[in-house]
Amino acid sequence: MSARARHTWAALTDVGLVRTHNEDSLLAQPPLFVVADGLGGHQAGEVASLIAVETLRDHAPRRPDAKGLARAVRAANREVMRAAREGHGRSGMGTTITAAIVEGTRIALAQVGDSRAYLLHDDVLERLTEDHSMVADLIRRGQLTEAESRFHPNRSVITRALGTDANMDADAYELEASPGDRLLLCSDGLTGMLEDPAIAEVLSTYPAPSAAARALVNAANAAGGQDNISVIVVDVAPERSSHGAVPAAAARPRIKHWNLGWLSALTWLLLFALIVGGVGFASYRTAQSRAYLIAENGVVVVYRGVPGSFAGIQLSWRSEVTTIPVSALPAMTSERLEQGLEVEDLKTARTLVETYRAEVTSATTP
Ligand code: MN
Repeated sequence: MSARARHTWAALTDVGLVRTHNEDSLLAQPPLFVVADGLGGHQAGEVASLIAVETLRDHAPRRPDAKGLARAVRAANREVMRAAREGHGRSGMGTTITAAIVEGTRIALAQVGDSRAYLLHDDVLERLTEDHSMVADLIRRGQLTEAESRFHPNRSVITRALGTDANMDADAYELEASPGDRLLLCSDGLTGMLEDPAIAEVLSTYPAPSAAARALVNAANAAGGQDNISVIVVDVAPERSSHGAVPAAAARPRIKHWNLGWLSALTWLLLFALIVGGVGFASYRTAQSRAYLIAENGVVVVYRGVPGSFAGIQLSWRSEVTTIPVSALPAMTSERLEQGLEVEDLKTARTLVETYRAEVTSATTP
């Protein structure tokens, strides 16, 4: 008998209740399992996702080697781009990918986009991957909650996919699971419809992977079935050594994460810095040419610049403190001066000051 561990697994994809085509592709060829969610519409999305899973089938390592798996994902990226160039599918087509290699309790993962991998351990569901999506970025920055993200108008906008960027990289992970753990790979047609606790509930309820996979798809459809739904459920089995001993179970999955996307992250950071710097510089230049008048300690004060600050930097410079009492000016004028009255430039500000001076003088002259 082979020393290779036996995994029971099930893979299922469903068009859902709203879409007319299924653009997801699946591959379950132990030890390799792949979910890909195609983008770009009919005769594009399904072409991209199929090319991606076929390239992984041909290039993925046979052992749980995350770096090797990430390399295979990069090859898949090149193949999707090449197909589009050669008129197979459509330009602009793309796909997500979430791939796993499972050997005994060792799992290697590579992921791009918003399809996910989860691990159920002692009935607790842990998300193993991080979505590359606009809402995931907003959640990470604390600008959106998970609950709000489910209704965000841009919830399906992904920030990384295969087929669009020659320098794209995959997130790669290796982890040690425990016998009895359950691995789930799925497209956003599942996670968009079901929250994590509902997914955990289904995975904990059905002992057979095939029943769990079917129940997940049914539940996503019952919740609306807005998108294509793909699930792969793999039960992690103990790896038997040559003399039949079962290695001790790991207490918790240990996840090693290689963010192979660091280079592109750095590029984005640099770009971001340039944009902020550029906007800041433009604001600085604009501010320098403008002016405003404001009431300070009861008199009119002239500033060059604009009220407030940009990125914590004050953008105004005091130009002139007049002797004009704000209280001597008409009520409407003094009210505006309390708020700060912005004008085109310093020259306009000085002209206004002269007008005020004349008003005050004529008002006090008997
Ligand atoms: Mn989808």
